[in-house]
Amino acid sequence: MALLLITAAAADPLPREIVPAKAVLVARPDENGRKVWHTRFFRIDSDIELRPNDLLRLAQVADTTAAAVKAHPLPLFAPPEGQRARIAIHARDSAYKEEGGVPGTAGMYVARKALVLIHGEHFLRAPDPARSRLAPQNNEDLVVHELVHLCMHRTNARLPQWMIEGLAEYFASAHAGGGRFSFGNADQRIREHLRTRLSPDDPGIPLIPVAGLLPLDGRGWLRYLESLPVDERYRAYATALLLAHQQLHGGKARFDALRAALEEPRNRGLPQSLVPLAEGPATQKSLVRYWQPKGLSLEFPAPP
Ligand SMILES: [Zn+2]
Repeated sequence: MALLLITAAAADPLPREIVPAKAVLVARPDENGRKVWHTRFFRIDSDIELRPNDLLRLAQVADTTAAAVKAHPLPLFAPPEGQRARIAIHARDSAYKEEGGVPGTAGMYVARKALVLIHGEHFLRAPDPARSRLAPQNNEDLVVHELVHLCMHRTNARLPQWMIEGLAEYFASAHAGGGRFSFGNADQRIREHLRTRLSPDDPGIPLIPVAGLLPLDGRGWLRYLESLPVDERYRAYATALLLAHQQLHGGKARFDALRAALEEPRNRGLPQSLVPLAEGPATQKSLVRYWQPKGLSLEFPAPP
């Protein structure tokens, strides 16, 4: 019985639910013609007037995302130091681009500025999959994804890009809307997250070769995405999500390897301990085997 409890605690270390506290939103004086608000943790600035409900909901999603990353038993939470981390909303393509946004995306994290950018037009309107890098069903999940990058600002440098993207999508898959997170039953919520985005009517989940993702750095990841047709780009995030899930829930050795990578002194190059490159095909096989009985038929393209 004691053993069973220990196993359960190790496999499910997060609180099952994180429920948003009452939203905190304090209007600040305008700066450079932009509206400014402070939430519990973040600064939001915008060049468009936001409806109070949209703004409160954004504040709640942002603050609860920070709480969720902080609650994780791994030392993931490491936001920028010495400043209130910033979320900037731009209505115009030109201003979005000027701050570092990639044209055609609905939101993104600009690492060198420790900034989450949101394209107002895409965020506040129904998502148009043709214009979004992630083709999101739910733009709030996109905000969660980008905020996880921001909350991990100082840990990202210790991780390969597939893990950075996979962890961000892992939290997005646990987001149930409006800042509520549910960490119970990871298999079920990941299955639903991927089915909704990739394959609502069919158990087949199209992915990309694991070996292609493993060596990518941040720039390489963006270039790789741009090489894919827009409606296939989410496959890269889905593949990264499944790899991150395996790292977190696939046994103590993998979990400890990730902890070691996060705790390593910086500037020693990327950790080699996570998934060795030669194991791409073997990793694919183990993912296929794991998910088949859980209702996902993973489809990796045949090697060329
Ligand atoms: Zn990302």
